Amino acid sequence: MLQQDAELASRLVDLRLYIDELELEFSRLAADFQEGDHWEHQGSNSAIDWIRFNCHMTSNAAADRVAVGERADQMPDSVVALQAGDIGFAHLTVMARTANTVGDAFDEERLLQLARDNSPGKFHFKCLHYRHSVNSKQFAQEQAAQAETNFLHMNRGEDGSFFLTGCLDPVGGAVVRNALEPLARLSGADDHRLRPQRMADALVELAAHKSKVQMQVTSSVETLLDLVGAPGAETEFSLPISSKTVERWACDSSLSRVLLQDSMVIDVGRAQPAIRGPRRRALNARDGHCRWPGCERPASWCDGHHIVYRMHGGTDDLDNLVLLCHRHHRMVHEGGWQLVKTEDQQIATIAPTVTFGLPRGPDRPPD
Ligand SMILES: [Zn+2]
Ligand SMILES: [Zn+2]
Repeated sequence: MLQQDAELASRLVDLRLYIDELELEFSRLAADFQEGDHWEHQGSNSAIDWIRFNCHMTSNAAADRVAVGERADQMPDSVVALQAGDIGFAHLTVMARTANTVGDAFDEERLLQLARDNSPGKFHFKCLHYRHSVNSKQFAQEQAAQAETNFLHMNRGEDGSFFLTGCLDPVGGAVVRNALEPLARLSGADDHRLRPQRMADALVELAAHKSKVQMQVTSSVETLLDLVGAPGAETEFSLPISSKTVERWACDSSLSRVLLQDSMVIDVGRAQPAIRGPRRRALNARDGHCRWPGCERPASWCDGHHIVYRMHGGTDDLDNLVLLCHRHHRMVHEGGWQLVKTEDQQIATIAPTVTFGLPRGPDRPPD
């Protein structure tokens, strides 16, 4: 078996080298093809466009080949290094793109050494530094221009979920990533969420943090009281939301007011002041971080959870408050987890009882 694996490994490397050589040949042909006008006669906007369509490639992949083909003669040592299997075609595309950007400042020797020492991804990164080093002003202008092409779509699916598609420039993207990363860390040993889920939750948490006391809800009294048969509540930009979510928003004061359906207004914020000022500081000082066992999300990212819910007449007294991070707060209200204070003032959690479908009646005795 080991012998077989070693053979596979060596075949992979050989085959990739062969493919890379073919890619190089393809690139040279693509550059020559661009010089002609066949693609124009065929009604294409550019040679890259013609290749994209007829060779079944993405425009980026086609443009990479043309760039390499055009630059191959100016990076002869790199071509030799590719043929020797020291660098890959992926290195060559980065090299060609860099040459296109920096013009006369292109220094093959220096870049080839970087290519030999780094994976293609890392090499791309190093080349950005290189581009900055030879012309920082142009680099800054390019980045500013990239920010002009930022976009974000939030398309709503049939079930009300949002699909996010977008593109952020490197700087803006880094700002967002920096904000999300600390929030996307595992929150305790029982956090089994995969990273994409944690990143998504982090985004929601980030938004909620910035926009506290913003939500305005339209609801029926029955919904507020979570009575059986009550419809959902409504808020802008969302499909109907559950009474549990209204309950949580009321709990951490992100609910500014509730408009009842017969147009009565309950100003939740005024009737029950948010946990702010001295009370919030006292709560932060006492709890320090999320009190869910094993979670250490810092106080500034936590909600003040009411152990006896506000909707059920719970007060803002410190005794009735506990810091919970966004995820754990949601687990309590929407997720059905219960919190209990133990005698030594610790918080213990009780998992929800999950029932799928209607509860079963007693088994009938067999006939
Ligand atoms: Zn709460
Ligand atoms: Zn927590």
